Amino acid sequence: MKRVIVPFFIAHQGCPFQCVFCDQEKITGSAAVLPTAAEIKSRVADWLVSSGVAVVEVAFYGGTFTALSQGEQQALLEPLQPLLASGSVSAVRVSTRPDCITAGNVAFLRQSGVTLIELGVQSMDNAVLAAAGRGHDALATVNAFAILKSAGMRVGAQLMPGLPGAGRGEALATLRTIISLQPDILRIYPAVVLKGTALAKMYESGSFLPLSLDEAVQICKQLLHEAAQAGVPVIRVGLQPTEDIAKGAELLAGPFHPAFRQLVESERWYDLLQRLVAAFPLDAKLAIHVAPARVADVVGQRRSNISCLRSSGRQVAAVTADANLEESRILITDGIKTVAGDILTDLDYHQ
Ligand code: SF4
Repeated sequence: MKRVIVPFFIAHQGCPFQCVFCDQEKITGSAAVLPTAAEIKSRVADWLVSSGVAVVEVAFYGGTFTALSQGEQQALLEPLQPLLASGSVSAVRVSTRPDCITAGNVAFLRQSGVTLIELGVQSMDNAVLAAAGRGHDALATVNAFAILKSAGMRVGAQLMPGLPGAGRGEALATLRTIISLQPDILRIYPAVVLKGTALAKMYESGSFLPLSLDEAVQICKQLLHEAAQAGVPVIRVGLQPTEDIAKGAELLAGPFHPAFRQLVESERWYDLLQRLVAAFPLDAKLAIHVAPARVADVVGQRRSNISCLRSSGRQVAAVTADANLEESRILITDGIKTVAGDILTDLDYHQ
């Protein structure tokens, strides 16, 4: 069944901090005003009609939900109670900071229909967290996971590779620590420099250099790969482009690309292709078969993977969608022999 999430962006509401990279208004494209009960009910009703599904989820993104006053949290969740009771809203998710999780508040959220809390983890390196002005340490995230898991809440973690003082090693170490805490979903947002943020001043003064697009892709392909091997879904890679960010109006620097995830997925497939085609002689005419959903990733943006294979002397006759193949599988044949691969098991970035 198609999953439809009705989003409410509560930009910077409730957050007493100012992380160096954050300008919630620019990230979400939303003004810092909480929606009223009438607005919540009418938006959910509109989405139920326009999406054509009978059941939706509701998400409050962009702020620090659990740092809102109890009255404000109640005012946002109360209009959803009849919809939860009738079944037209199946679940509610909220985002918040790891240090704003308490057992009492989590119990209230569970009773109010919240089933998933996304934590802005960013890093599990205390020096990186301090340099980013987060105002909490890695232990706060460990404690938050413990409280949420023992309350039966699903937990999401948002990671931000490329913050000041962080490199590939930090990104991998953070991912591995988070995976050991058993998150239900992950989001990975490489750090970008938005105008008007403290990070912008650091960038302009020369004290911070963001990852290049290629560096971010190289790091994220490994993060994505390890998460996939661990069976943890990564539901987003790269910042969601608001109209302004897509036009470059609010973005000062950093590895932003409107189709960042596809760049990363295509890199993983290219790494596997390179391994598999080595089994064929250079003059072999290769036919590649993958699941329909993976054709675009295997081919690459603007056919980049096929161009790279051809530049290395390989002849690719066709890339064909094969509905019988699982999404992680690939077959390459030259008509004489066939080589099979699986991106989850045949790609190892540790080697
Ligand atoms: S905690 Fe979240 S909302 Fe608050 S400043 Fe940091 S990133 Fe922005």
